[in-house]
Amino acid sequence: MSLSARRKRAANAAKAAATDALLVTHLPDVRWLSGFTGSNAALLLLAPKSGAAKAVLFTDGRYTAQAKAEAAGTRVVIAQKNAAVAACEWLAEAKIKRCGFDDGNTTVAALKQMRTSLPAKLRRGLFEPVGALVSELRWIKDADEIATMRRAAALGCRLFDEILGVMEPGMSEGTVAAELEYRARLAGAEAMSFPTIVASGERSALPHGKASASKLPKRGFVTLDFGVVLDGYCSDMTRTVHIGKATDEERAVYEAVLSAQEAGVAAARAGISSGEVDEAARSVLRAHNLDKWFTHSTGHGVGLEIHEGPRLAAKRNQQLKPGMVVTIEPGVYIPGKFGVRIEDMVLVTSHGAEILTPSTKAWIQL
Ligand code: ZN
Ligand code: ZN
Repeated sequence: MSLSARRKRAANAAKAAATDALLVTHLPDVRWLSGFTGSNAALLLLAPKSGAAKAVLFTDGRYTAQAKAEAAGTRVVIAQKNAAVAACEWLAEAKIKRCGFDDGNTTVAALKQMRTSLPAKLRRGLFEPVGALVSELRWIKDADEIATMRRAAALGCRLFDEILGVMEPGMSEGTVAAELEYRARLAGAEAMSFPTIVASGERSALPHGKASASKLPKRGFVTLDFGVVLDGYCSDMTRTVHIGKATDEERAVYEAVLSAQEAGVAAARAGISSGEVDEAARSVLRAHNLDKWFTHSTGHGVGLEIHEGPRLAAKRNQQLKPGMVVTIEPGVYIPGKFGVRIEDMVLVTSHGAEILTPSTKAWIQL
């Protein structure tokens, strides 16, 4: 979908919310609508009377050349100030009466600063909260986005295969992460999606065990949770492998988590609610009496941001739709002992979910 088609959809959504304009300040939304990747940016969309939505991008002098190159098709205003403030001054001059803003992604401080920059008579009535309207449009990926995310996910899988040949007892978690990230950059990743998680031995019971100085044990689990960024889009996957001989309990927990993960993938398809996918995974762990150790939600949307909607969590009622890319990542974390998590990134289709991270989930013993 072209950027102007996206802008038209966003402007129409703003119009449906009874506003004349939409102020977009959440940077992934600005990028999605304009192509601009700078760190000080605001985009104003003016509801179309007919044809294309009018868009004005505000940024500062550091980005003059970059904004013109990246956001071709959008009018660019360079102001030596906060971009949202510049947009507010423009709104006042243009005599816009009602402008939607994203109250899901705007801090109280930022809203106060925006209002203060307006003439007194506009302060009360100009801004209308319309929710995270653009972010919600982003939940459904178009063909180009899906192609990029396929590449990012495939690179993640390749890196997982490579790192298996590198890991050995005594190596620190930090070294494993460094080896992985170095290879990611060499392969063309712009960045990692988030700080790489390498959690070994007892630390595997930490759902967010960032790679530490701890050494990989002679016997025990290692959880690797990582992702790469390609053209702005994140990948996300988790595999848990075992070093040395496992106990029966470790094997049983691994098999239960794998069954739960597969049940989540099998349940995911267009039309089902996000809570039903969570329940499909969670109920398997409940049947194994392990659900009390599954302390987070089953998954999340992923795209320009590593954590987007929809949230696949208990009782959530967000409907899955074709084109959404979500993770399915149940885990069991037994404090003081060990933990296991398995995560795939999947593309929701009308008839099911296509796994974008097809690395094996069978038991791996190093
Ligand atoms: Zn992950
Ligand atoms: Zn995830």
